[in-house]
Amino acid sequence: AKSYEHRESSNQDGLLGGLLLPGFDEQSCTSRYQSAPYRKNMTRSPSAHLVKRLREQEALQRRCGPGTEAYRRAVERLNTLRNVTGTTADDGTCKYLVLVPYRGLGNRILAMASAFLYAMLTDRVLLIDRGTSIPDLFCEPFPGTSWFLAPDFPLRELENLTGEVPESYRNLVRDGRAASAVSSELPYVFVDLDHACTYHDKLFYCDDHREFLHRAPWLLMRTDGYFVPALFLNPAYQEELGMLFPRKDAVFYLLARYLFHPTNEAWGLITRFYDSYLKNSDERLGIQVRVFDGDTPFKHVLDQILACTSQEHLLPEVVAQEPPLRPAGARSTKAVLMTGLSSWYFENIRGRYWQSATASGEVVSVHQPSHEEHQLTGEATHDMKALAEMYLLSLTDAIVTSGWSTFGYVGHGLGGLTPWIMFRPENLTTPDPPCRRAASMEPCLHGPPFYDCRARRGADTGKLVPHVQHCEDMSWGLKLV
Ligand code: GDP
Repeated sequence: AKSYEHRESSNQDGLLGGLLLPGFDEQSCTSRYQSAPYRKNMTRSPSAHLVKRLREQEALQRRCGPGTEAYRRAVERLNTLRNVTGTTADDGTCKYLVLVPYRGLGNRILAMASAFLYAMLTDRVLLIDRGTSIPDLFCEPFPGTSWFLAPDFPLRELENLTGEVPESYRNLVRDGRAASAVSSELPYVFVDLDHACTYHDKLFYCDDHREFLHRAPWLLMRTDGYFVPALFLNPAYQEELGMLFPRKDAVFYLLARYLFHPTNEAWGLITRFYDSYLKNSDERLGIQVRVFDGDTPFKHVLDQILACTSQEHLLPEVVAQEPPLRPAGARSTKAVLMTGLSSWYFENIRGRYWQSATASGEVVSVHQPSHEEHQLTGEATHDMKALAEMYLLSLTDAIVTSGWSTFGYVGHGLGGLTPWIMFRPENLTTPDPPCRRAASMEPCLHGPPFYDCRARRGADTGKLVPHVQHCEDMSWGLKLV
């Protein structure tokens, strides 16, 4: 058997400061060790404690994952639908977290990162419901095992589970059954963390895990977002989270660099585009355009992009008159990577720098990999383009994103980039100001709890601890800073 021991490493060897182990899956997943040269230095380095806990989680995933005796027994228990022997997961057997990611790819990536952290905090094996495209997009993150739910998993159609099912955390808590021992007799507990989930669902964020959930061998969860900020509000996890992440502003960055390695096919899309259009410029600017009011072009959105990039000096001004010939010599070059479902914004901005010279003399080239026109989530090539574009955004030096968009959060978060966020337009008008520099590179949690776990009453959760604040783009959302 291969040994996957941790060795001291630095970013130079592509191991991202110890996030990654050497010698795992090099040919079948070239992105794992080849991504480092595409980026500048690591924005944040992992703590020694995080590296240690990752190795322990990998060992747990191997010991309990699909194909092991432990897994077979746990599934059997699920099959009998009752824990007949009365034993609970406290007896040293393996406990599982099955994640059902859903909605767009940005949502699903945020969900997987959050669930991974929760699994690590609670010593659960993370298994992912594969859906239609995830295995085509990402390599396995854990050596010697799979994080995908095996096809013979007895529970079916997991995407149809909601907080309404009898096994839901919502119902157990609301009916006062959580306090009794019943949970260990349930085959599983289902936690609904949809962005629109209820007060009772969100009490999950205060669960201190010492009693109720701890006994459930199988936890099923669906979520469409980044619930990590809520974990930082739970007193039960604060000490451990403080050791894992001495700097709170790069949790997603580190988890994402650890977990998400594009498959060779997706990596081909990323590297060919990067090498052709972005690599040789002095600077790279990403502009992510996500419009929630429809797929037709909107002038107020174009105006917003131009106002933001001008105000923040991200793109040079253009001159009305053709300038006299400049002396030959080095002129700085800027490559602009645009992403969006429509090509209209891209064509306008590219046309602007074709039709007019820049005041600074800077050479601006504008590129957009695809324009899919409509969201087709779940379709493999469509999702692969979406991944490639999020990843390409993460390889830029500065980034402008659209507020409310999880696609944008992944783009800047994976890149360790603090974005300029364009506010979501209301009434089809350009917001004023058009954008603002974010407080951190972290994604925003869209469906936060409004409850203080310590005081046991409703509260403004953006005011409980200094490093969890409201988001720039969504006043009730929460993000780590
Ligand atoms: P959100 O809806 O902006 O939060 O982002 P999601 O990624 O969750 O869902 C949007 C989905 O629409 C993406 O996953 C893609 O399928 C598609 N999409 C939206 N914007 C783009 C884009 O710029 N490029 C590509 N290729 N697809 C996009």
